Amino acid sequence: MKKVVKFGGSSLASAEQFKKVGAIIKADESRVFVVPSAPGKRFSDDTKVTDMLLHVYQTAADGKDITAEIEAIKARYDEIIEGLGLDFSLDKDFEEITNALKTEPEKDYAASRGEFLNGKIMAAYLGIQFIDSAEVIFFNDEGKLNTYKTEKTLAAKLAECGKAVIPGFYGLGKNGRVKTFSRGGSDVTGSIVAQAAKVDVYENWTDVSGVLITDPRIVTNPEPIKFITYRELRELSYMGASVLHEDAIFPVRQCGIPINLRNTNAPADEGTWIVESTAQRPPHVITGIAGKKNFCTVFISKAMMNSEIGFCRKVLQAFEENEIPVEHVPSGIDTMTIVVHEDDFMCKEQKVLSAINRLAAPDSIEIEAGLALIAVVGRGMKSASGTAGKLFNALAKSGINVKMIDQGSSELNIIVGIRNDDFESAIKAVYAEFVAE
Ligand code: ASP
Repeated sequence: MKKVVKFGGSSLASAEQFKKVGAIIKADESRVFVVPSAPGKRFSDDTKVTDMLLHVYQTAADGKDITAEIEAIKARYDEIIEGLGLDFSLDKDFEEITNALKTEPEKDYAASRGEFLNGKIMAAYLGIQFIDSAEVIFFNDEGKLNTYKTEKTLAAKLAECGKAVIPGFYGLGKNGRVKTFSRGGSDVTGSIVAQAAKVDVYENWTDVSGVLITDPRIVTNPEPIKFITYRELRELSYMGASVLHEDAIFPVRQCGIPINLRNTNAPADEGTWIVESTAQRPPHVITGIAGKKNFCTVFISKAMMNSEIGFCRKVLQAFEENEIPVEHVPSGIDTMTIVVHEDDFMCKEQKVLSAINRLAAPDSIEIEAGLALIAVVGRGMKSASGTAGKLFNALAKSGINVKMIDQGSSELNIIVGIRNDDFESAIKAVYAEFVAE
C-alpha cells in the first residue's frame, strides 16, 4: 500500500501545524510521497505566503526595493524552522531568490518559491529526500502540462527513492523557466504524483473534514459526505461547491485512484472518499446540494416551433456568435428557454437579441434576470421514487416559487431555478427535508 499525501496551506501555516502534519505522516508507513503547499493563513486576517510573494514580484517589477518584503517572508519560514527545532537554514535560498527577483523578476518563479521553500523544510523535518518539481514536472509550448514527459520522468525519479517531498504548484516551462499551475494548483501536483507513482490512495489534507453536503455559510454544521463519485462531485463543483482544483481530478480518475479528503486538525475523522463508483449506500437519497445566483433566462416563443427543423440550432448560434456559454436549455412545445449567467450575458444582451431575431425570427423574446439555480445531486435518486415530489414539496412549504426545472435523464441531479432572494431559504429547506429529517 502506497499513498500520496498533499497538505494545503493552512495545514502548514506554522510550526504547530507542521507538527500535526509530521505526526500524520509518521502514523502511517504507507504515506510515502508528500506534496506541500506554501504556508497559508495562521488566522483569518493573515496573508498567505503565495500572496506575499506575488506582491514582492510586483514591487521588484516596478523597480522598487524588496528588502523589507523579503524579510517578512523569511520571518514566516524562520518561525517555522525555529518552532520545529531544526538545525537548518534557508539563508542561501533567500539570497538566491532575492538576487533573481532583483535582476529579472518573473511572476511564476516568485509565486512558486512558497512551495519550494516549504518543501525544503518538510524534507529536513521528515529526514527524507527533496525533489525539486522543476526537475520532474514539465509544461509544453501552450503552457499545458506535458503529461508524457512528466509521467515518465517523475515515475523514474519516484521509483529511485522510497520516500520524498515534492513541492506543489509548479514545474518547468518549455522556455526553461519555472511555471506554476493556476491558484490552488498544489492539488494538481498531488494528483500527478499519485498517477506517476501508481499509488493506492491520494490523500488531500486541509482544514475541513471532507466535502460537506452543503455550504456551511448557509446551513449550520452540515454533515460531511462519506462517499461521493467523481460524477457527483463534478455536478456539485460546477454549481459552485469548491472542493479541489478542477485539474486535479483527471490524472487520478484516469487510473482509478481514489481521493481521500482529510482534516489535519481532526485526523481521526474519516473524511470524504471521492471514487469512480461505489456500492456504499448513501445515507440520504441526495449526496449534496449546491447552487449559484445571478442567472438570466431568455424565453423564446414561436408558433409551430416544434416542426421547424433547425430552430434550436439557430437560437444557440446567436449565443455562440457572441461567445456566451449556455448553462441550460429547458424547452416546451412552442417555447425554449436559454439560461445564461448574468456576467456573460448582460454586456452583450442587445447583440444577442438581434442575432436571435436575425437568425431564428421568433414571435417573441422575453428576458429576466435574478435567477438562482440549485442543483440537488445524488446517485441515490436513481433507485428512489418520489425524490422530485419531496423536493418540490419542501420548496412549496417554504413558500418558494419554482421558476424552472431541469432533470437530466441520468437521474443524477435535479436543477431548479428560483429567485435570487429565495436562494438561502431554498437550500435550507432542501437540506432539512432530505438530510435533517
Ligand atoms: N500556494 C498556492 C496558492 O495559494 C497553491 C496552492 O496552495 O495550492 O494558490
